Amino acid sequence: MVEQQVIRRGVHDPLVIDAMMRVPRHLFVEEALWSQAYGDFPLPIGEKQTISQPFMVAFMTEALCLKGGEKVLEIGTGSGYQAAILSQIVSRVYTVERLSGLARRARRILDSVGCRNVNIKLTDGTYGWEEEAPFEGIIVTAGSPEIPHHYLEQLSVGGRLVIPVGSRGSQILKRVVRTGLDKFSEEDLLDCRFVPLVGKYGWHPEEN
Ligand code: SAH
Repeated sequence: MVEQQVIRRGVHDPLVIDAMMRVPRHLFVEEALWSQAYGDFPLPIGEKQTISQPFMVAFMTEALCLKGGEKVLEIGTGSGYQAAILSQIVSRVYTVERLSGLARRARRILDSVGCRNVNIKLTDGTYGWEEEAPFEGIIVTAGSPEIPHHYLEQLSVGGRLVIPVGSRGSQILKRVVRTGLDKFSEEDLLDCRFVPLVGKYGWHPEEN
């Protein structure tokens, strides 16, 4: 998986490669899907949600430009796999999930693989996690109609936000860097397709 889907497609950050080699992806999907867990596609994790394609996890992690030791925020815990990858690299991962079944399941798996530096909060993640801000990296693993202002406010100066922005069906993965207290630079990285970010500053639940 790492060789063919990650390195060959241009993700070379050794911290990311190392993390992807260490975390057993199959444990984050149900047993019936274990044989497909290292394939080049997203997989269902229940409640109409998905664990992202391995390449997308690697690409987004690299896009955060981590050096190790940071404090990062993830929105959309899902299976917990992306949080587990981050937990190998940074010192503290804060991750928010709105669906209690998924948050509970992720907690169980993360504990079972020994990821002790991951904190999960069950709430609408479009507010970010104000009590723990600022973050050197914020990664949003659900597609948003626009960039929720809380994420910009909760970035440290120099911090990076990676977020899919667009329609419900397709988005552009963007990276926003907070270059000063009131200064942000934004770039488009990749076309992508994520499940919707549902909440106050995302999509309405009834549209889901
Ligand atoms: N990062 C996950 C994949 C997540 S799929 C993984 O590695 O498996 C997107 C997740 O975002 C879903 O679990 C969905 O319930 C969650 N989500 C959607 N809107 C949200 C919101 N406003 N706050 C928190 N989580 C949200």
